[in-house]
Formats: sequence, structure tokens, C-alpha cells
Amino acid sequence: MDLAANLDSIQKRIAAACERGGRAPGEVTLLAVTKSQPPEIVKAAAELGLLLFGENKVQEAKAKIPLCPGKLRWHFIGHLQSNKCRDAVELFKMIQSVDSLSLAQEINKRAEQAARTMPVLIEVNVAGEASKFGYQPEQLLAELKKLNALPRIEIHGLMTVPPWSPEAEKARPHFRRLHEIKAQCEQILGARLPHLSMGMSGDFEIAIEEGATMVRIGTALFGLRAKTKPRAEAD
Ligand SMILES: *Cc1c(COP(=O)(O)O)cnc(C)c1O
Repeated sequence: MDLAANLDSIQKRIAAACERGGRAPGEVTLLAVTKSQPPEIVKAAAELGLLLFGENKVQEAKAKIPLCPGKLRWHFIGHLQSNKCRDAVELFKMIQSVDSLSLAQEINKRAEQAARTMPVLIEVNVAGEASKFGYQPEQLLAELKKLNALPRIEIHGLMTVPPWSPEAEKARPHFRRLHEIKAQCEQILGARLPHLSMGMSGDFEIAIEEGATMVRIGTALFGLRAKTKPRAEAD
């Protein structure tokens, strides 16, 4: 694995996708997904200038983050259980995967106890997949004002993981839909939501063409991960 070469290639592909999508290159942030990668890999990525990292399990992050350079910013991108909110509020700068009002309420409570506010993204299940976490779009629109009223939560935008497909183009309508839902949310709130977190190793260029401001990339940077546990066992 040649991390420097991978990063260089991804940055060029991000720049080219920005060009095609009529976006300014600075509009898209690369979040390096380090789940199942050791702290040494994080350190190597940090030495190449990466500052923003993502983890999807609180337990793993709690062990790893203290072993990594202190200047890094960490976002939580996995399914969050309410009994892990206290740790998540301590470890992460942003929680990208808020998928219910009850979870938002618990984060709000823990953030208050920690005397901070918590930036979040709302995860949307754009295709209504039964196997996936995330708000159904209609339910999000119905509950958005309640979410926004939580004083310790700051909604910065939306996140999605579209249905898996070997053909990246298949993700395009889902990314477009998330962009539309963001516009509907902005209308309801009467405020701009700056972030759309969408696009992973296989489809980030299409996500950028459709308006992504954050792409979450693991495999294309670090190579294949060791097999992870099935979702039901994950924390
Ligand atoms: C693992 C993961 C990613 C990165 O996936 P790759 O295909 O390895 O780039 C992005 N987002 C979420 C929510 C993930 O769990």
C-alpha cells in the first residue's frame, strides 16, 4: 500500500470531479475513514497532511484516538447507541449519523453535561433500505424542527450511504435526492445547511458532481480492510 500515491490520486480525482461539477476545489473535504486501521496508519496519513478522520465504532475509537496525534479532528460515522453517547460526545468533533429524535435527545443531554454543543449531520436512508440505519426522508422533514430545537445540537447538514452497487452511476439518483432533501430542510429551518456528507471509495466522484461537501474514503486510501463483524454484533 502506497499511501502517498493513493492520496495524491484521490486528490486529483476530487479536483477533476469538482471541475466537472462546477464546484470550487476548496468546497470538498476529504474525511479519511480509519475503521479497523491501526494508529500507525493514522499517523502516516497525518504526516501527509490529512487532518480529518472518521470512525464507525465508539469502542474502537476510544482505544485508538488517544494513540494518534492530538491535532487531528474525528467524526463519528457509524450507528450510535444511546449508551455510547457520552463517550462519543467526548471523542468526536461531529456525529454524522444522527438517525432518530431519541438519539438526538440523548446526545443533547450528554453534550449539556459536558458543557459543549455538538455539531451533527442527520443520516438519511435515501432508498428506504430495511437493512440500513438512517431517517426516512418524510420522517426527517416531520421531525426536523424538534431536532433543531435541541439547544446543544447544531445541525450542519445531511449524510447518506446509498445502496451498494458495483456501478457507481447507480448511486447518482440517491445523491441527487439527498441534495434535494437538504434544500427542503433548509426551507423548513429558514437557514442554510452547509454540509452534504456523501460518497465513499467507489462513488465519491459522482457524489461530488451531485454536491457533496465531504467525502468519506477508506479503502481507496488504505487498501482493503480485514473483514469486520456482521452489523448485528457491531457496537
Ligand atoms: C466504511 C465507511 C466508509 C468508507 O468506505 P470505503 O468504501 O472503504 O471508502 C464511509 N462511510 C461510512 C459510513 C463507512 O462506514
